[in-house]
Amino acid sequence: MLTFEKLYSMGHEEVVFFSDSSCNLKAIIAIHNTTLGPALGGTRMWPYASEEDAIYDVLRLSRGMTYKAAISGLDLGGGKAVIIGDPKQDKSEALFRSYGRFIESLNGRYITAEDVNIGVEDIEHIYTETSNVCGVAKMHGGSGNPSPYTALGVLRGMEACLVKVYGDRSLDGKVVALQGAGSVGRHLGEMLHKRNAKVYFTDINEKNIEEFKTMCPSSEFVDVEQIYDIPCDIYAPCALGATVNDNTIGRLTCKIVAGAANNQLQEDNHGMELKKRDILYAPDYLINAGGLMNVSIEFEGWNDGKARRMVDTIFDTTLKIFEMSDEKNISVNQATDLMAEKRLESIRNIKSSYLGNVKHRFPGRKSR
Ligand code: NAD
Repeated sequence: MLTFEKLYSMGHEEVVFFSDSSCNLKAIIAIHNTTLGPALGGTRMWPYASEEDAIYDVLRLSRGMTYKAAISGLDLGGGKAVIIGDPKQDKSEALFRSYGRFIESLNGRYITAEDVNIGVEDIEHIYTETSNVCGVAKMHGGSGNPSPYTALGVLRGMEACLVKVYGDRSLDGKVVALQGAGSVGRHLGEMLHKRNAKVYFTDINEKNIEEFKTMCPSSEFVDVEQIYDIPCDIYAPCALGATVNDNTIGRLTCKIVAGAANNQLQEDNHGMELKKRDILYAPDYLINAGGLMNVSIEFEGWNDGKARRMVDTIFDTTLKIFEMSDEKNISVNQATDLMAEKRLESIRNIKSSYLGNVKHRFPGRKSR
């Protein structure tokens, strides 16, 4: 059950339930923290087994967005939304337009974007009703598909790891075991191929496997379970969360774990376990923030060069986190959380002086 005690313990500001029986809309928006700016996070549509599950998901995901925006240096807060429903049956123009009106009623405190099972056409319907949405089509001044920028950020994170472990950022001749040849994985594979890395990859989807081979012709496919045992420099999880766990950690022979997947460590203590085994872990929610950085500039007028320059900063931030992890002898995941919390804390203390500026960074744009 959602209780104030729960909200206090996780630090949420606001959770809103929206319903419209005319189109079967059941949506929950969780605004976790707006210290740094309006809460930005995608909307996920999922046939949750229970409302409890939907609440659990939206609370957890929105909190994660606060940390991601904070560590990435963005003037954004953390929020997320879920729509309870089966994306194959329950999607309609009316549902998304109704949802868009509800977002508009939040007056800019929450900005939505795509997430699991939400596509560009759904975003277009939301955009008809509210300007507080990003990831809209390029013809409306949007930024299009975020995955290439997410992949670029993962690459920058990998390069920071290579500097720390091998003394230079070159991928030439390095061996990468890549799990998940989807939207991010295939763009990452293409960049690794161009940098002369040797890529072993796995996936469960035939079409994605074929596309990956086209974009990364030098790669070799391996079975799903084999990916953990490949002798390599870098293990790159780009499919599922929690793949660094008690069952896999002893099998990894890599020096680096760096990938796009969210929540790669099954438990926090797996971060320290990696450190003990001399495996460097690139903080997942920082190095996969390229997509968020990309959409965050839609309101100022998106352009590719600016997006790429922002994503490039992931290299330096990753190195700073490694420094902190060494200095304090804490795991990389603990250092990342600490750095994000420090930024939130410091800006919270000065917020009253800067509120006007923060607002002007996100003036919104007209909906269609
Ligand atoms: P995607 O759905 O396009 O690709 C995921 C791929 O993983 C698919 O090809 C799928 O078949 C494969 N897969 C699923 N289970 C697998 C298994 N057991 N073993 C091997 N492969 C498996 O997703 P994506 O957009 O490429 O995102 C990849 C990961 O990165 C996800 O965890 C996502 O949450 C995270 N992420 C993505 C973005 C983005 O911009 N797309 C941003 C931040 C984080």
